[in-house]
Amino acid sequence: MKSLLIASSNPGKLTEIQDLIGDLRTHLKLLLPRDLGLNLDVLEDGETYAENAALKARAYYQASGLLTLADDSGLEVAALDGKPGLHSARYAPQPGATDADRRAYLLKNLAGLPRPWAARFCCTVAIAAPDGSLHFSEGICPGEIIPEERGTNGFGYDPIFLIPELGKTMAELSMAQKNQLSHRARAVRGAVPLLASLLKV
Ligand code: IMP
Repeated sequence: MKSLLIASSNPGKLTEIQDLIGDLRTHLKLLLPRDLGLNLDVLEDGETYAENAALKARAYYQASGLLTLADDSGLEVAALDGKPGLHSARYAPQPGATDADRRAYLLKNLAGLPRPWAARFCCTVAIAAPDGSLHFSEGICPGEIIPEERGTNGFGYDPIFLIPELGKTMAELSMAQKNQLSHRARAVRGAVPLLASLLKV
């Protein structure tokens, strides 16, 4: 069985990816950096999700020698010219800001602007292969920011991100439902054929 290193410190991502790779599961053992005693401080100073995902995938591939998958994602709000985008995790002026602070800051910046506030979650997955090559897959989940929080599942901007077709925010979806339609799910599912061809299965 071959190994796939998931370049993340979040064990939730491993479970999510395990679910999304379908039959490939039988050929692949998924590992986290901590399983190898690795904890790299990768400077994510790329100008795109793809560049940041590639920086992480390459750094962990170089440290482990294993086929490595990394992802980078963010929220883009049309009325804010695509912000917070790459800066989604750090969007809020105060030091030590929480997810709730970032949601409040986003809503403050949107206040007074005409609704609907169209938005999308974007994710790029980068795979670093043992021959030194890099491969990418993108996923987008369109939606809308709403001014009041709804739901308690998920994380980040989920409570204010509405999926209009479902009439529910991301935070009102179960993990299984979110894994059907999220930006990350779409990017990871798109990477499955790539992984299969890299693994020759
Ligand atoms: P990363 O790709 O895990 O670094 O995500 C960057 C940031 O984008 C997170 O800290 C969140 O603020 C936001 N984000 C990414 N994916 C999601 C999601 O599925 N729900 C809510 N917020 C997200």
